[in-house]
Amino acid sequence: MKPLTDIRTLVLWLALFAPVAVWIGWQEQAERYERFVQDTSIAQRMLSQKVVQHEAVLATLSALSHPPSPAQLLPSLQPAMPQLLGLGYLRGGAWEGSGAAPAGMPGAQEQARQLQRPVTLAVDRARYWLVAPSSWSLLLDARRFIPAGDFPPTLASLTLDLGMGPLTLLARQPAGGSLGGIMSLHKPLGAASQPFPLHSWRRLTPSDWPWTEWLAWALASYLLAAASAAWQRSRAEARRRQEEVRLAAMTRLNTLGEMAAGIAHELNQPLTAILAQVRAAERLLDDEEERPAVRQALLASAGQARRAADIISRMRGLVQPCAPSPRAAVDPDALAASLLFLREEELGRRGIRLSWHNASPGARPLGDRVALEQILHNLVQNAVDALADWPASRVIALSGGRDGMEYRFEVSDNGPGIPDEALPRLFEPFYTTRAQGMGLGLALCETLAGAMDGRITARNLDPVGACFTLRLPIAGAAA
Ligand code: ADP
Repeated sequence: MKPLTDIRTLVLWLALFAPVAVWIGWQEQAERYERFVQDTSIAQRMLSQKVVQHEAVLATLSALSHPPSPAQLLPSLQPAMPQLLGLGYLRGGAWEGSGAAPAGMPGAQEQARQLQRPVTLAVDRARYWLVAPSSWSLLLDARRFIPAGDFPPTLASLTLDLGMGPLTLLARQPAGGSLGGIMSLHKPLGAASQPFPLHSWRRLTPSDWPWTEWLAWALASYLLAAASAAWQRSRAEARRRQEEVRLAAMTRLNTLGEMAAGIAHELNQPLTAILAQVRAAERLLDDEEERPAVRQALLASAGQARRAADIISRMRGLVQPCAPSPRAAVDPDALAASLLFLREEELGRRGIRLSWHNASPGARPLGDRVALEQILHNLVQNAVDALADWPASRVIALSGGRDGMEYRFEVSDNGPGIPDEALPRLFEPFYTTRAQGMGLGLALCETLAGAMDGRITARNLDPVGACFTLRLPIAGAAA
């Protein structure tokens, strides 16, 4: 995977993960708070039921016409009410009951009478007297209302304020800092005589966070991001492949165009020659005496047509390089004669002298006659093109001769020569300095020469002109 794609996957993953993770956290927090409110309400109801019991006991005691003495009553009530520490009543200013008369009892009794309901008289943070209008009073210990284990297990901290500061009823969380805040709720107990404020709170710790859900979503979102990145990559890959196919198609079209141009270039010469000879033959046809000339012209046309066909099959050979090229000992004189026959007269008319000189008569190059013809035709045509606007006397010298184990053909002209910057690029396909040129002639010559294990080079002559040299292997022992 490329680093850039990695970063993109990571960003995509974060973009997917973060909002949903926040939502999961928020949802979890909302649910947890709801549970906390419910459990605090349960604790509040449990405590409220307890303190309401106290009112009921006081009402029962007040209703008795001959109540037993407090000392008799206490042991019988305590098993059902472990929070009951003592009881008694004030009658005619005298206290009768457990322990000494609590301080403030007369005032509390007076207040209860006025309110027509019991009132509380705090002893300390945990204990209080509940004083009824009838003056019956209960000494209660709030620590014994509910055993800590009976509170809902999810509650953490509970305090109850009897009027002298908070009394801890439940402390399940160790003291310490909180991570993620505190849930807190204040609720008074539901008894008109003992509406002690109940405070419930819970610190959020790392274990409260929805790690499993977060982890599951992190994994799922990573898989999503990775899958989406992979999909994007495969789409880009498919687009790239499509583009490659399109480019290849275009290149094929270009190559086809180039091939067509090359074929046209090569066929132009034999077709022009055929046209000229057929026209000449047509002119001579009516004259009986010119019959041999007509035959000659038709034979030459047939030769040119064969050459055109050969050129086409050569071009096919270039496209299918595996096709073997037929090699044989070629007679250079016959080759030059055919060339001269085709071009000498026409060039003469244009003021260009075409000559042939064989320095090693009898020596035979090894090659393919048609390919050789093509090369020499091309080189001569290039020389003709170079001489086209050349004012001085114009000569194209074609020569051949043995050079060690090679046979060397040379085509030289006395034209302007090859520009220095063009020399290293002459054989590149489509390199041309001529406005009408296609730059295929020399590239084709080099390919044809290569197919015959030959090579072709170019140089400038002193003082003027250019010379192209074609070297081919010498054929057998012929010398
Ligand atoms: P084209 O003839 O279409 O330009 P060629 O591959 O046959 O293509 O030739 C490539 C270039 O080589 C020509 O444009 C020309 O600049 C140079 N060249 C070839 N033959 C000669 C020559 N005899 N004298 C000077 N320049 C030449």
